[in-house]
Amino acid sequence: MQTQTATAILHHQQLSMFKTTPSTIIATGSTKSYQKKSPCRSLFFPRPPAAAAAKKTSGARASSSSSQKIEEEEEEESFIGQTYSATNSSANRRRWRRPQNVDGDFFVDHTCIDCDTCRWMAPQIFTRVGDMSAVYKQPSSKEERLKALQALLSCPTSSIRTEQPAQDILEVQKTFPIQINEQRIPGVYHCGYHSEKSYGAASYLIIHPEGNILVDSPRYTERLASNIETLGGVRYMFLTHKDDVADHEKWSKRFRCDRILHSKEVEFSTADVEIKLEGNGPWDLGRDIELVYTPGHSEGSVCLFYKPLKTLFTGDHLMMNETRLSIGERYNWFSVPMQLKSVSILVELDFEWILPGHGRRAEFKDYKEKNSVLEAFLAQN
Ligand SMILES: [Zn+2]
Repeated sequence: MQTQTATAILHHQQLSMFKTTPSTIIATGSTKSYQKKSPCRSLFFPRPPAAAAAKKTSGARASSSSSQKIEEEEEEESFIGQTYSATNSSANRRRWRRPQNVDGDFFVDHTCIDCDTCRWMAPQIFTRVGDMSAVYKQPSSKEERLKALQALLSCPTSSIRTEQPAQDILEVQKTFPIQINEQRIPGVYHCGYHSEKSYGAASYLIIHPEGNILVDSPRYTERLASNIETLGGVRYMFLTHKDDVADHEKWSKRFRCDRILHSKEVEFSTADVEIKLEGNGPWDLGRDIELVYTPGHSEGSVCLFYKPLKTLFTGDHLMMNETRLSIGERYNWFSVPMQLKSVSILVELDFEWILPGHGRRAEFKDYKEKNSVLEAFLAQN
């Protein structure tokens, strides 16, 4: 009874109010006790400047055991651009050049998990051959080399390599996060650095005057974190669903941001996320962001709708494949009919961009075009 009342009140209510409702704070699978949040906390409340917060966190990190892990990650990154030993162990053989690559500096090795990231980030260079990616054309311009190296850094399994150490890799690291379309959706970035823990899903950064939002989790690297810090840090980390949470804990510690995840998606590793959504929503995040409940791919999948830029962040709810819209049916963990039903509610929303976790982006001319594509998809499914 209490939950029903709470849910009814919370539809279209500010998340700050949401956070004060005891029934929304659950501890599924965890024995941790939660402290009740103070009442009437405004949603975007002032924080110490990002740099100061980061300095504090970074100081704490240096004296904690997590520093070793972070150093290990930096080390892992330093392998980039270097060749592997030719020792004939099975682990090393997986790191060898696939014969499907064209000759030249860049190549994909046998550890590729076919996540498609390099193929949409640098379609001039990478294609699919067999069930993995391969280089079909070596970069021949500065722009192509930049794209190839961005894909190399974003590959979740570090399966893209170069024969010669890439001397310009540090410069390319500075280009993340990558602005998606400065004219149409300024301040929306692709984070790159996909994580194998998120099955290679994409994550995004929204620059917002009331506090930036990280949508899903990139692989944690201090270089990306410091670039994000330059852009104002992170106030919220919105997690679309349980699959794409990767290094959420490290990001949360680094920026002291509040993580948001639907309670039906909470698992052991996410038991202590700060904000657990309950019920069917929608929920408002600030003045111009709506969180839309779209169950189906998983039980508690939620999309983030950034209204001013008409952009919908869909997680694994809806995406493009190479030619058309898709719900990634092969990877449905909960209910395909429910996922399709959740697609149908998107007809009501005025968006022109779909930025997914897996799969490719969709960009529509306007609301009308979006709906004709959406309706055609629904009619076929
Ligand atoms: Zn998923």
